[in-house]
Amino acid sequence: MAKTLLSLIFLLSLTQNVLASDKAFAVLLSYGFKQSDLVNFVKSYPELKDLDVASENNLKEGEEFSSDFTLKLYAQDSNDVYIILKSDNSSAIGKVETQYEIEVKSIEGDIRNTLHDTIFKETKSESLANQMAVAFKEDFTTTKGMRRKALYQFEVEQYYEDGKFIKYGNILSATIIVGRAINKKVLKIDPENFSWALLPEGYGETNLPFYAPVKSSRVSSLFQLNRRHPVTRRHQPHNGVDFVAPSGTAIYPAMEGEVITISRTRSKGKYITILHDNGYQTTYIHLKKFVKDLRVGMRVGPEEQIGEVGSSGYSTGAHLHFGVIKDGYYVNPIYLLKSYGYSQKEEYETVDEIEELPETLDSV
Ligand SMILES: [Zn+2]
Repeated sequence: MAKTLLSLIFLLSLTQNVLASDKAFAVLLSYGFKQSDLVNFVKSYPELKDLDVASENNLKEGEEFSSDFTLKLYAQDSNDVYIILKSDNSSAIGKVETQYEIEVKSIEGDIRNTLHDTIFKETKSESLANQMAVAFKEDFTTTKGMRRKALYQFEVEQYYEDGKFIKYGNILSATIIVGRAINKKVLKIDPENFSWALLPEGYGETNLPFYAPVKSSRVSSLFQLNRRHPVTRRHQPHNGVDFVAPSGTAIYPAMEGEVITISRTRSKGKYITILHDNGYQTTYIHLKKFVKDLRVGMRVGPEEQIGEVGSSGYSTGAHLHFGVIKDGYYVNPIYLLKSYGYSQKEEYETVDEIEELPETLDSV
């Protein structure tokens, strides 16, 4: 009876996931391998010195009281699996490549404390926590945490071997939502440099849909998920980009569309919203005035002035707050905007446009 129970305990401890991208040496030492074993292993596989292990699988063999076992170490960043045999007085190592089955899983929840902590707690994966923290590091501070309720959601590859979960792969897309501001990034792979990154939707695309709504102006504030509002002093997302321009500067639609709102609120001041055929809405806030004949339901083109830059609503000086709305959420306009207005089209839209655009965007 006692023996059966012991066998059962051994069976239960057969597999154990570390998941946290431990270094291979740390894992091997925890299994009782000696420095001399490690020296021998590195002679065969020098990369072991700095190998991130996604997961391990300890296959016990032979008698219950013998120390013989086979350990499988799954590399985080490749399909390599190291197979290590250990018996009382000797050890040996080999390497194989495994074929994984890949599934995509969606994971979501509230952000508590920092983004990194949240993802690590949810997944126990340092790799995933890092991918998320790096992807959103420009958008809000990932060390101090969010001041407002925020949600995260991402799609990630899961790698299985013979039906058993081994490790997470790349995050394919990731989204953070704060209030009505949404920031979505998608995995982009650069096949020339074998590099990859989670970048904003629209980033680097050359067919940017929107013209700058004011001519030759400076962008003073970018889309941000966590910002202290200059007037209300409250932490709230900055739902668009601010163009600084003198009071009275002409404002043009970013693209042809239908005027759906001409209104005024305490915080926005005078504002206009336009619905475009591509499904996006653009909104123009803190105006000094609307052009006289503007009416809801009217179709306007990017060459037709709709209003003037002002400082109405909660604003500290003359500027245009420009927002882009998709499916009810504010998205980051910067990756959808050309750096120039429609009237400057001729001057900018030359054959060099593709080369020049990314630089122009980086420098705003
Ligand atoms: Zn603004």
